[in-house]
Amino acid sequence: MTPLPPGARIGILGGGQLGRMLALAAAPLGYRCHIFGPEEAPPAGHVAEAVTIADYLDDEALGEFAEAVDVVTLEFENVPAAALEILAQRVPVRPGVKALATAQDRLVEKDFANSVGAATAPYAAVDGLDDLQAAMAKIGPRAVLKTRRMGYDGKGQVMLNQDADLDQAWQAMAGTPAILEGFIPFDGEVSVIAARGLDGAVNAYPPIANRHRDHILDISTVPAELSAAQADRAIAIAADLATALDYIGILAVEMFVTGEELLVNEIAPRVHNSGHWSIEGAVTSQFEQHIRAICGLPLGSMAIRGQVEMRNLIGHDVNQLPDLLAQPGAHVHLYGKTEVRKGRKMGHVTYLKTEADTP
Ligand code: AMP
Repeated sequence: MTPLPPGARIGILGGGQLGRMLALAAAPLGYRCHIFGPEEAPPAGHVAEAVTIADYLDDEALGEFAEAVDVVTLEFENVPAAALEILAQRVPVRPGVKALATAQDRLVEKDFANSVGAATAPYAAVDGLDDLQAAMAKIGPRAVLKTRRMGYDGKGQVMLNQDADLDQAWQAMAGTPAILEGFIPFDGEVSVIAARGLDGAVNAYPPIANRHRDHILDISTVPAELSAAQADRAIAIAADLATALDYIGILAVEMFVTGEELLVNEIAPRVHNSGHWSIEGAVTSQFEQHIRAICGLPLGSMAIRGQVEMRNLIGHDVNQLPDLLAQPGAHVHLYGKTEVRKGRKMGHVTYLKTEADTP
């Protein structure tokens, strides 16, 4: 298990802000990054050695990409699993296709979580109106209907109650396979960001508390206010999932907290928005840790530097830039996106709350 030497090339599928921050973290370790994705002018391309703009299923472009890089990773979980399968025949792909395929489908994901002893909300597969009626009778009346695939930031979701028009709800799924989940009146939402190295070593940050606005992550704070036993349990869940997936790299697990219970909501096979604070707030950032893991280097410490808060700059929040920069303790990160759109993640700002000069 020889680590990739400095100068080696890392291929990243997806060119958004996560790829950008991965490429920025790869540079001090001596690696070069090559971004691959369909988007024109990807934000990660500004800080990478090479960019290929091509469809994820373009065989020829995938072949050339595999030739040009020494390892492939991803920053976007909706890359078709078939693209990873093609690449994996020629170059190591970390994390592998099993993790991606599991996280891409909410039904497979929940079955998997339960199979390793991690609890979830009650759920049932819904492939038609009859299924929805039967599932509502079992799980409802308060429930959430979600598409099985391609959902993020609350997209492809319908909240249901006893007055819900099930016909209309099913139509909102536009004929795609769906899942019905029991509504969880949670006390809070937390995520655990864990890393698993090529040698199987697992490490994690303390659980992170997350607050959403309009279904999009707004503020993350670490450490989350959990009992020591619950924090240990949350980390153990993420570690068990990573190990069972034979995972390499950073894995994020979103959970609902209800009393003493922790319910797994989602597994993200990549670096995660709720871990951006780790750039300044932890000994090793999630981005550096991911690069270390996929390149076969030892994992770094995931100890935190104190109490930390991260706020997303969404849409026109980015106009606060002059004010933010005037705050002595604000660590501002912009993603290089030129077009401001409602709901678009434009950047984030991190505060080390224990720093004397932080507001
Ligand atoms: P998801 O796309 O599954 O991460 O859901 C987006 C957000 O919707 C979550 O972060 C929760 O705030 C909320 N949500 C999703 N599923 C449920 C559920 N079963 N019960 C309560 N809230 C939910």
